[in-house]
Order: sequence, then C-alpha cells, then structure tokens
Amino acid sequence: MSRLLLDRVLAGVPLGENPLRHVRELPERPATTADWPSWVPDALRTALAGGGVERPWAHQVEAATHAREGRHVVIATGTASGKSLAYQLPVLSALSENRRATALYLSPTKALGADQLRAVRELGVDDARPAAYDGDTPMPERDWVRAHARWVFTNPDMLHRGVLPSHARWASFFRRLAYVVVDECHGYRGVFGSHVALLLRRLRRVAAKYGADPVFVLASATVSDPAASASRLAGVPCVAVTDDRSPQGARTVALWEPPLLPELAGENGAPVRRSAGAETARIMTDLVVEGARTLAFVRSRRGAELTALSARQALADVDPSLPARVAAYRAGFLPEERRALEKSLADGTLLGVASTNALELGVDIAGLDAVVVAGYPGTLASFWQQAGRAGRAGDSALVVFVAQDNPLDTYLVHNPSAMLDKPVESTVIDPGNPYVLAPQLVCAAMELPLTEKCLADFGGPVARRVLDDLTTDGVLRKRPTGWFWTSRERPHASVDIRGSGGEQVAVVEADSGRMLGTVDPGAAFTTVHQGAVYLHQGTSYVVDDLDLETGLAMVHREDPEWSTSPREQIDISVLSVAEQARYRAGVTVNLGEVAVTSHVVAYLRKLPSGQVLDQVPLDLPEQTLNTRAVWYTLTDDLLADAGLTKHETPGALHAAEHAAIGLLPLFATCDRWDIGGVSTALHPDTGEPTVFVHDGHPGGAGFADRAHAALIPWLTATRDAIAACECPSGCPSCVQSPKCGNGNEPLHKDGAIRVLTTVLNAVADATPESKAS
Ligand SMILES: [Zn+2]
Ligand SMILES: [Zn+2]
Repeated sequence: MSRLLLDRVLAGVPLGENPLRHVRELPERPATTADWPSWVPDALRTALAGGGVERPWAHQVEAATHAREGRHVVIATGTASGKSLAYQLPVLSALSENRRATALYLSPTKALGADQLRAVRELGVDDARPAAYDGDTPMPERDWVRAHARWVFTNPDMLHRGVLPSHARWASFFRRLAYVVVDECHGYRGVFGSHVALLLRRLRRVAAKYGADPVFVLASATVSDPAASASRLAGVPCVAVTDDRSPQGARTVALWEPPLLPELAGENGAPVRRSAGAETARIMTDLVVEGARTLAFVRSRRGAELTALSARQALADVDPSLPARVAAYRAGFLPEERRALEKSLADGTLLGVASTNALELGVDIAGLDAVVVAGYPGTLASFWQQAGRAGRAGDSALVVFVAQDNPLDTYLVHNPSAMLDKPVESTVIDPGNPYVLAPQLVCAAMELPLTEKCLADFGGPVARRVLDDLTTDGVLRKRPTGWFWTSRERPHASVDIRGSGGEQVAVVEADSGRMLGTVDPGAAFTTVHQGAVYLHQGTSYVVDDLDLETGLAMVHREDPEWSTSPREQIDISVLSVAEQARYRAGVTVNLGEVAVTSHVVAYLRKLPSGQVLDQVPLDLPEQTLNTRAVWYTLTDDLLADAGLTKHETPGALHAAEHAAIGLLPLFATCDRWDIGGVSTALHPDTGEPTVFVHDGHPGGAGFADRAHAALIPWLTATRDAIAACECPSGCPSCVQSPKCGNGNEPLHKDGAIRVLTTVLNAVADATPESKAS
C-alpha cells in the first residue's frame, strides 16, 4: 500500500525532475501485552478496560512497576505508545489506596495538560479529584484546588510563579506528595530546560521541608540515553524504560529534495528551490486523490494555511467534493474544535490536514496512511514523533520528508543514515549556567533559606560562587544558618524561565492595546525594530515604534508585500579560553567565554522573490552578550596551501561559518536561531583567520560546549552538506543564511569546503601539539 502511494506521488512529478533521494522500508513491529499488575485496584482496571485498554503493553507495566516500587523512572518510547497509562497506573493506584496521598503533573504546554486531565477525568475515578492549576484557573477555584485536589495538573511556569513561592498555602498538598509526573520531558532543553531542572530541585526541597520525598515519573519521546537526560533534569537517578512494545505498522520513508528553479534568482543571484511548502501541498494533493488520510507538518502557521489552501485549489480541479476534505490546523483552536478535527481525520471525513508542530503535543492522532514532514522539525525525536503518526498494525503507511532550503535539510536527504539510523539525540541543558543559576537561587532562597546542605543539589562549587556574588551585590544576605532573601517582594515574577533573562519586550497592537507576545531583549533589535514586519500566529504586523525605556514595541496590522531583514555589525572578543588544542599543521580549536557586540544599523526590505527594495538606516545602541563559543583558527600559510587567495579567504570562512551554524542543530538539539557566528580573516585576539560559533544566550545554554565535543562529526557533516548541494556558487540550501547580518556577502562556497577539509585534516591526523584547559 505505502509503496503504491509513493509511486502515485512520484507519478505526479513533472518530467525532468527527480526529487527522490532515498527510500527506506521500516518493518512492522507486533505488540507485546502483559498482565495487569496485582496491585492495580479492580475499580481502576475496570475503568481502563472501559476506556478500551484490555491488557497493558509490556513497557507500560515495566515503567509503572518501577514507579510503584519507589524508583524514579523515565519512559522513553514512541508516539501513541501509551505513556500516559504508565504513570496513571501507579499514581491512581496510590491515590485510591491512600486517601490522603497527592500527586503533581507537569507539562510544557497548557493544551497537553488539559488533554491529560481530561483523560484522567474520563476514567471516572472521582476520588482522585484531579484538577488544573494554571494561568486560566479562576481565582475562586484556586482555593478549592489547593485545599481539595489530590492530583494537580500544572506547568513549570505556574509551579515557578504560583505554587512554590506560596508553598505554605500548599502545605497539606506537599506533605502528602507521592508522585511527580513530568510529561514530554524531552521538550525541556536549552535555557528553558536548564530553568526547569533547577525548578524541579526547588520543588524537591520544598517537598522535603514538609517531609515528602516524591517519586518522579518522566515521559519522553525516544531519545538516546534517556536515563542520563532524565536524571540531569530531575536531579535524581532515574531508570529508563525504552523497549517499546506497542504495535507499529510497516512504513515506507522517502527523503525528498525539491528541485532548483533556474528561472528564479534569490539573494545575490543565487538559485532558489521550489519551497518545501509548495512541494508538500503537491504531495498532499496526490495522496488525498488516492484517498489516503494524510497529515502534513509545516514549520510555520502561515505555511500550514498556505499548504492547505494550495492543496484545496489543486483538488478543486480534480473533484469538487475533495477541497472540503482538506483543512489547516490553526493556532487558537478551542479544545473542542481540536478534538472535532482529530475525529474527522481519524474517521476519514477529512483526508488531509496541514499543521504546525503544535499538533505534535498531546493530540491523539495515530494510524494515518501518510505523513509529510516539510522541513526538519529541529530534532530527530520530533521527526520520529511526527512520522509515528503514520501506520497501523497490519497496514503499511508512507512517510515523506521534504527538505527545506537550508544546509541541515540538504545534509539529511543526502545522508539518510544520519536521519534514519542515528540514535535520537539527548537533550542539552546546562543547570550550571550562572545566568540561569543566579535567578533560580534567588527564588529558592525566598522560598526557604539556602543552607550549605542544599548546595550540592544546585551544582556545588558553581552555586557557591554564584551565591557569593549575590551576597556581595546585596541581593541575598549571608547569615550563619545560610543565605536569605530579605526583601518583602517576591523575585519570581521577574524571572522568565522560558527566556534568557532580562526584561522581555512586549509587542502591543497600538489600536486595541492587545499584547501579542513578548520578545527576548537580545532579539528585540533584530525582530521588532521600527519598520520591521512582525508575524504573529500567521498574521502580519508592522512595527511603528520600539521604546527601549518602557520595553514596548507598538505595532499595527499590515501585510506588506515585502519582508524585512536587519543588517548587523558584529564583533566578538575572547574573554577567556577554557580549552585549547593546538595542532601541528597550524590549526587551533578553542572553547571559552566571549563577548559578542552587535549593532543593528539598518534593515532591508525584500520582495518574496528575494529582490531588495531598499535599505533603511536605523539608530539603535550597541548590545553586548557574554556567552560561550567554540572557535578554530588556521594560519595564512595553510589557507594558501589550500589554494585560497587573500581575496577569497573572507568569503570562504564566512560560508564555512554559515553552514556550520546550519548543521549544529543535528549535534546540539538547538535551533539555528539559538546560536550565532562570526568569521574574520584576521581576528585581533587570535592574530589569525578565525571562525567563531557562539551560544545566543547569556552564559550559554550548553550548545557551544556540545559543538566543541562533537567538532569532527559536526564539521564533517558541514563540509558534506555544502559539497552535496548542486548549486554553482552558494544558495540557501548550503552556505547562505537567512539571519546573516551582512546580506550573505561575501560567500565562497568552494573555499568553504577547502577550509573545512583543511581543519578536519589537521585535527584528524594528529594529536594536538599542546592542550590547555
Ligand atoms: Zn547550494
Ligand atoms: Zn553571515
């Protein structure tokens, strides 16, 4: 069936194009069930059977038994493998046996929490008294939840701002806290993940004050080494359950690269590929015509709308009844609307749905005939979650990955094993980042004074140094018994656990006064400067004014035909070197702290074709970011040996830097936007041609460190991605970057391959001449 579907889709490809790069058949996996554990109360077993679970799968029982026996556990299995049951069993059993026990459930999003709460409520085990406690919970209800709920569903933000600071009001809840469930824990990465790791340590400290020592049950997508990731996140040793015994139908996975369109010219005359969204719409059209229930994942909301729209238009020519059977999954759907859409896709009323990644969380769609993934969704874990929506037991399904025009996607479709054979990456967090640790320790000290004994849990010596600084600065007070917060005001509200610290800039619609969202202070100058086109949930706005004093960006609704991109001057200086390896051939590789100074000086207005309308100057102050970076240097002689002239060197280094930033997400579970880079033919601190790749967050989020640790595979993949692109001299699929502050000039594609080869040869051939750390 699935191979047949692929043939149908290929039949629709225009003559002369050959977008198919690889096909892989994934075999069917049969299910293995297990007996209900004897400790599951009859009433709960009956309720679950009523919900359709006759017998649990083996991995569910394995995870539930660990939790039951008091071991912290992480269950890391695929989409639709019933991870919820694995924690419902021990939690609901405990709540029903012990009338006083309580449990806490945490999810990264409110929507997922609401879904899980509904699922528990539908079991009808009322004495568990499950209840939501989040930003939407009305004030009068909050008192009831604190006093009576036994299973509280909340999110890290609410735990941070609403629960822990007023733990005394939750005393009876904490005293009896038996379980903490951390759902979708692979979503906690980077700065947010580092905050959540420390938040969970604060939670354990508060629970301990009331005499409780809850068991942690974490649920994760399949990732490599889940025990280590979960233990790092929760701060307690976790056992991992990874052997997925749920059934999975056979799947055909196709890797697809849209063709270059020679008749169009992009930035600096570079060729352009047909967009992944347009290609996806075409593929979805063919699949819907075949009657295949198809889900397409598109990176942006607007992209999802456009994909559904163009599929509908194409279908109208085939059969007037078909357009109505294609829909876009829109942001802002109410839960009922979301479920109605799921249901119509499940029963085949709808045949095609285009969605953003938002659908990835907490929506019960599985067993589809086809899934199309337009653009790499950021992690292999996400890719497999999305691909896992396709395929029922006993039936096969099709998964198509459509490359977007960036170096990472190019690399993946040309190196299928990197995508299909590689263990899924573990998440990167850095709870020791002083920029995260400092505000977290301040919040912790407000909740309960910090003692010497607590420090081990918060990073030991690092926490000690941060506390000394906080004391010197007068933020905390040191007394013989520990560190104290002495102000009356709570520090929590000013600590944004999802951002990178500092005051967020609020984006406000001038007419209505409605706040559309917030922007990290570090990103405000490049995204909401005066004249910037700002997209919010698929709607376009133009910024009238950015007021730095008040932290407000005022916008109005407008959908101009151009987009804007900032021109930025960036300087980087080395503050300290943590590790340096010097290779005999004349290459050094370094990891350390840097100061990145950026100055947004203008912005370009560009048409969708890439044509530049004009450049508008801006008058904004410089900004400095202290963070971590990895950098390498080469001698001028080495570059000359590689055949690069003085004139070509800047473009070669710049192109190598761009592509390396594009590939790093494959090795460091970051977003391309989380990192930045600088390249120069002569850097004052190194005295040599140098390429820097730095973390985009104050203090770093662990990405530069991961890049340093994975230097050889990372730069090898970078070189391979550039070499695989068939464009003549550089395009968005290889060395052009959408966030280049320099308008993608100069770039030397072939030179970048030579720079990377030179560095890799030097590093691979020899042990370093000297190594310092
Ligand atoms: Zn290219
Ligand atoms: Zn650049």
